[in-house]
Amino acid sequence: MSWTKIRALLGRVETSTRPVDPRTRAALDERWAALPVGVRTPSQTLGRHAVGCEGTHGVFPKCNLTCSPCYHSADANKIRIDGEHTLREVAAQMRHLAARRGPRAHAQLIGGEVSLLAPDVHAAALTIMREHGREPMSFTHGDFDYEYLQAVVVGEGGRPRFGRVSYAVHFDKLMRGRRGIPRPRSEAELHPYRRRFAEMFARLKSEHGVSSYLAHNMTVTPDNIDEVADVVENVVAMGGYSMVSFQPAAFVGDARRWSGGYRDVDIDTVWDRIELAMRQTISHHAIQFGDPRCNRTALGFMVGRRWHPFLDVTRPAEVDAREQFFRHLGGVNFGGTPPVVLFLKVLRVFAGYPRGVVVAVRWAHSAVRRCGGIRELSVAFARRRVRSMTFVVHRFMDAENVSPAWKMMQSGETASDPVLLETQERLAACTYSMAHPETGELVPACVQHSVLDPGENQELRKLLPLLVSGSKTTGCCS
Ligand code: SF4
Repeated sequence: MSWTKIRALLGRVETSTRPVDPRTRAALDERWAALPVGVRTPSQTLGRHAVGCEGTHGVFPKCNLTCSPCYHSADANKIRIDGEHTLREVAAQMRHLAARRGPRAHAQLIGGEVSLLAPDVHAAALTIMREHGREPMSFTHGDFDYEYLQAVVVGEGGRPRFGRVSYAVHFDKLMRGRRGIPRPRSEAELHPYRRRFAEMFARLKSEHGVSSYLAHNMTVTPDNIDEVADVVENVVAMGGYSMVSFQPAAFVGDARRWSGGYRDVDIDTVWDRIELAMRQTISHHAIQFGDPRCNRTALGFMVGRRWHPFLDVTRPAEVDAREQFFRHLGGVNFGGTPPVVLFLKVLRVFAGYPRGVVVAVRWAHSAVRRCGGIRELSVAFARRRVRSMTFVVHRFMDAENVSPAWKMMQSGETASDPVLLETQERLAACTYSMAHPETGELVPACVQHSVLDPGENQELRKLLPLLVSGSKTTGCCS
């Protein structure tokens, strides 16, 4: 091999094992600089490790269930599902996200009901997202069969298209039209359906070797707040889900499907119910994504039936570990990097910061001790009783506040009204962005649903009308 080739090879190795891609670093710095001062706390992850999550919009607006509330605009079900449109728009949005936010992020394939896409289109959309460095998660109501899942994941010749898939599934009794249970009277009646959904992925693993990450989502209103604890207890016990996430209802989307009293459910009330179900404190203070009035997250794992956080902020060794992690490993892409490359990246970090080994050992020692010691933990591992479990509450905002607050933000005006000021602060620290390649904008999901969806869907109605001669429409519900 010539010297030139050797130099080129070494250059490639150097670039691919660089701990943080320079484009990610630039996106993180931009994110941090734009955060309101009040959320630049030691636990803040945005701008230090993560750029935030992403979601698609306007790529398949239709859904075949009817929910109260429904965050889709009134016109969403009057738009035809069209695979070509879906793939073209997903590609354009992902290209824009990668250019603005760097080569790696988590993104949801969302907008309407993803399982109304033909399996090949669904698979192609996931592939496009991956090609743009996005770790995709399909957002669904979960009312589909194993055959559909298999057709998405397994390609021609029976070969899996993906080694791992992620699904966020939405179950609650406010949803109408699910097969077998069109009008559930209680959350408990939906437990068999929640279990069945998780079992499809266990079967996928056993038949095709494809692993999965499942997040369980539920909208919370005064109607089902008293059932939250029972849902947490049951979903955690089912074993297939790695995240249990709740969204207190907001007045956004289709106004025909709103009903009174949503404001009665606040983020603290939902969190209390999670702790009630787990019979322990679930601390959300270690890690913060964006504004605490929007998001609350507890990252951790189950050892048997007890939950443990990855970081316990009452222990100085673990607080130090968090600080040093953000400082030296912030921005390293752990999830989407091949193990050997990741090992080399981390090695490079420790080579420049040898004390990091001591910090890591102290954190591990502290974490193992609070989980019952090395022996108990080893036994639990051996019996497969250790698994990741994250709790989330994400509280969207009402359209009546988002619209004026966003309008003022766009003209550089800071609101004096306390409610609008809070809305502006939360939008500025938003963790969930959607791309508009046609204008060059990235907008918070609250803005997408409150301000932009109605106009966008009116345009899509003209572009993709339901009644086109020879067109095939699926699952219209209004
Ligand atoms: S989408 Fe809305 S509620 Fe969610 S983080 Fe962004 S601003 Fe906050």
